[in-house]
Amino acid sequence: MRKSIVTDYDNICFFCGRPAECEHHLIFGRGRRKLAEEDGLKVPSCNNCHNMGQIIGRIHDNQMAERLSKMLGQAIYEGKIGSREDFRTRYGKSYL
Ligand SMILES: [Zn+2]
Ligand SMILES: [Zn+2]
Repeated sequence: MRKSIVTDYDNICFFCGRPAECEHHLIFGRGRRKLAEEDGLKVPSCNNCHNMGQIIGRIHDNQMAERLSKMLGQAIYEGKIGSREDFRTRYGKSYL
């Protein structure tokens, strides 16, 4: 499993600081999760913040949170891996 390039604290929920129980891939959907895994574009999360808590407080099924997740993923990609054009080629679109 690839290490996150977003945070070194892989036991702590990126969103709330409680112990992590799963990983959230910043970019997901349509086979993109696999690419995010390869690129390390993922963060540790607790189950509540990921997809089990109230919708307003979690990342999934929350339209704006999901959009911001992808934007953050792309911003980190562009900061550490490649250009916007590289991102667009690899992920099939740009979120920024
Ligand atoms: Zn959390
Ligand atoms: Zn997720």
